[in-house]
Amino acid sequence: MKAAIAGAGVFGLTAGIELRRRGWKVTIADPASVPAPNAASTDISKVVRMDYAADELHTALGRTAIGRWIEWNRESGRTLFHQDGFLILSGPAMQPGGFEAESYRLLRSLGEPVEWLGADEIRYRYPVWPEGKYPHGYFNPRDGWAESGNATAWLAEVARREGVEIQEGCTSLPGADVTVLATGAWTPSLLPELGGVMWATAQPVIHYRVENPADWQAPRFPVWAADIGRTGWYGFPALGDGTLKIANHGPGRRMHPDDPREVAAGEHAHFRAFLESVLPALVGAPIASTRVCFYCDTFDGDFWIARHPGRRDLVVAAGDSGHGFKFAPVLGGIIADAVEGVPNPALERFRWREKTAEAREGSRASH
Ligand SMILES: Cc1cc2nc3c(=O)[nH]c(=O)nc-3n(C[C@H](O)[C@H](O)[C@H](O)COP(=O)(O)OP(=O)(O)OC[C@H]3O[C@@H](n4cnc5c(N)ncnc54)[C@H](O)[C@@H]3O)c2cc1C
Repeated sequence: MKAAIAGAGVFGLTAGIELRRRGWKVTIADPASVPAPNAASTDISKVVRMDYAADELHTALGRTAIGRWIEWNRESGRTLFHQDGFLILSGPAMQPGGFEAESYRLLRSLGEPVEWLGADEIRYRYPVWPEGKYPHGYFNPRDGWAESGNATAWLAEVARREGVEIQEGCTSLPGADVTVLATGAWTPSLLPELGGVMWATAQPVIHYRVENPADWQAPRFPVWAADIGRTGWYGFPALGDGTLKIANHGPGRRMHPDDPREVAAGEHAHFRAFLESVLPALVGAPIASTRVCFYCDTFDGDFWIARHPGRRDLVVAAGDSGHGFKFAPVLGGIIADAVEGVPNPALERFRWREKTAEAREGSRASH
């Protein structure tokens, strides 16, 4: 059987590897070099967490993925996943129903070693955060961050080693029994009928440069989320060269992913205001680089991994909504099951579906 995959980000690459391992002949085409500079899967880092409020499916997928990230470190002989832990800070006291409280409650019930933090513990263990700003929080030692661009490059190596043909700088696909559209934020423009249920949103990322990287690294400065359910702010420890990434999991700007990419003046001001009020020690840090990266947002924030109802030879694997990278170790299996029609509980959630009320659009708390 032949599979042709459009897109060599983590959705396309992991699907290609899994289908190849199931005996398919696989070709992946991407208009760019791989990893593609403009792909969402590139960049220096992505959060890897299992914390999804009361969402049992994503929590289960996150826990499984973390186990496999650790295996990928062994397989690759590199540290693609840094299990530094994840610091979740809550603005108001943690409230039932809130992202922080629901994540903590579910993970505790699953026996995860999450550590509750009061204002004193936060002050003592993570002194960079302003006193009293975050009365509550918790630390999840099993989470961390992945070197996204490096992991994507490694997945391309694995794919080639397994016999997947990757055609860079090309969009034409060979004829195949099944075509998989794994084109991320480009998907709604490649399949306009999806325009009502998914769209591309531009998200700003700023990489600052700090002088003493060790001051901005775990355990005192691990991956963090600062009242993310209400503000969207999150960030990463500094890399060895002092690069420190901050981003905002917010509504973003609707644009075409091929439009010119620049962080807008208003977005710079938004980042500066955050630093001034929350991380004043970084206000003077120079900006090393900026990036505009795209989510393929769905109306409900869930992935879109499903066979086209009218074209049985087409499977869409997109709709990452800004939270798909961490699941790379489990995505390939889910997408291959969609291709082969193998029952998978996750596919019920990621099915081809009608747009429901706009209730959750833009609120990203649990995703
Ligand atoms: C700012 C930002 C921060 C994020 N942070 C996190 C995080 O902390 N944790 C997390 O889990 N996730 C995070 N994500 C989400 C994560 O990056 C995505 O879920 C994931 O990378 C999506 O992978 P993809 O393969 O669907 O898309 P992409 O990686 O974008 O790949 C799509 C590929 O399709 C190619 N393509 C385009 N047009 C065509 C065509 N016509 N034919 C063939 N190929 C084509 C592109 O060149 C590209 O290589 C973040 C995303 C952004 C934008």
